[in-house]
Amino acid sequence: MSNPRPRVVVLAGPTAVGKGTVSTYIREHFPEVWLSISATTRAPRPGEVHGRHYYFVSPEDFDAMVERGEMLEWALVHGRNRYGTPRRAVEEAIEQGRLPLLEIDLEGARQIRRSMPDALFVFLAPPSWEELVRRLVGRGTESEEERERRLATARVEMAAAEEFDKVIINDDVRRAAEELVHLMRSQSS
Ligand code: 5GP
Repeated sequence: MSNPRPRVVVLAGPTAVGKGTVSTYIREHFPEVWLSISATTRAPRPGEVHGRHYYFVSPEDFDAMVERGEMLEWALVHGRNRYGTPRRAVEEAIEQGRLPLLEIDLEGARQIRRSMPDALFVFLAPPSWEELVRRLVGRGTESEEERERRLATARVEMAAAEEFDKVIINDDVRRAAEELVHLMRSQSS
């Protein structure tokens, strides 16, 4: 059954908290959720499919999409690649009564807060600060400088939790995904 007026849900959180893993789980287990497919200028990783995981576009094509007003939001992530949410697909998902989920970075979430204040903002948090540090620098292959840089970024990102409507703890991917989907269903009925 479709929903009368679904509420857009935005999932964001600190780097390495596992947003991608939670949204992959949702894509594979909850077909009622419509997961936005972002455009990105980064190259595909092995196994990633154009049109399923991302639209992999050139910097020129990305610029053109922004100039035509086709992006609901976009951001430069980790100072390297640009990522953006194509607007039209989100509007269509709403019209079709799907449950729209945007998994994006904090800067993108802040833009949506301004353009779609009715959306629901969910912050995915680690079970503890120590666990986030372990996920961020776990392999120990980074230089001390890189490690400090990542931790400084993580501190700032964690402080953003208070801007969000709801915090979900990613202690277990399946549990966190189910909590998010239950929340999405309750918002649209
Ligand atoms: P990855 O390159 O590992 O797939 O994603 C890197 C980061 O880009 C993640 O934090 C993810 O949330 C963010 N991201 C993915 N798609 C979008 C988007 O459309 N807009 C914004 N602002 N961030 C995105």
